[in-house]
Amino acid sequence: MATKMFDLTGKVAVVTGGNGGIGLGMAQGLADAGASIVIAARDEAKSKGALDDLRGRGAKAAFVATDVTDEASVDKLFAAVQTQFGRVDILVNNAGINIRGAPQNLAPADWGKVIDTNLTSAFLCSQAAYAPMKAAGAGKIINIGSMMSIFGASYAAAYAASKGGIVQLTKSLAVAWAADHIQVNAVLPGWIDTNLTRGARQQVKELNDNVLRRTPAKRWGEISDMSGVAVFLASAASDFVTGAEIAVDGGFSSLG
Ligand code: NDP
Repeated sequence: MATKMFDLTGKVAVVTGGNGGIGLGMAQGLADAGASIVIAARDEAKSKGALDDLRGRGAKAAFVATDVTDEASVDKLFAAVQTQFGRVDILVNNAGINIRGAPQNLAPADWGKVIDTNLTSAFLCSQAAYAPMKAAGAGKIINIGSMMSIFGASYAAAYAASKGGIVQLTKSLAVAWAADHIQVNAVLPGWIDTNLTRGARQQVKELNDNVLRRTPAKRWGEISDMSGVAVFLASAASDFVTGAEIAVDGGFSSLG
């Protein structure tokens, strides 16, 4: 019974930025639970490596080259998913970037890039997923926030604004689409070891020590730490959970 509740056999999941980091950790969890995975990202070589990994787990997996900041590219993605799989049950809005620097020096174009990649993309992909999910009578959308959905950071104004926005977008979509049986939730990861945070550690020297000191679990998260929450939010186990923010952070956001 418990296993069945988390079973994703026959489901199709689109994971933006699913070729590495948190997106791949979530895709691995969904694949292990039986879902087919569509990776929507730009880097083909990196995506091929991720496809090998997912297929090695026994999952069906496909790559659709996508720039989530481009509305036409997002439309093409969902058209390709319909052609190849005929359905979309799960959408993980995970693609994200950060451009770091003091807010007084942040170029408006860089502000726009971060907001478009992290926030507007989630709106565009969710909008594109709505019609097929409504037609199927069910759907699951998982948005990726951050500790900066809660806290500010002196070097990441645009990023924090985008991640605060993700939480409010999540709540709005959740209430708009609850009657359509589409659940929309946000995951707020703590500090996870990925390309993004490896870059941050190079730019912000004290970051590694600060994360270890400030995280009650006393370690960085691994991408495998993101698999279980994805399965929960993609499965029947969460059918009455919508509009929630779930921190996966080793206690970071609970420490006063
Ligand atoms: P990565 O840099 O490893 O992954 C980000 C992914 O986004 C890449 O695979 C990239 O693929 C994809 N991407 C970026 N821009 C675009 C675009 N325009 N179109 C399509 N795909 C794009 O970082 P993480 O795994 O760390 O980050 C994943 C998410 O988790 C982000 O939203 C991030 O903000 C969030 N997060 C991460 C935390 C952490 O500690 N690591 C903490 C909290 C939140 P490609 O280059 O192939 O397009």
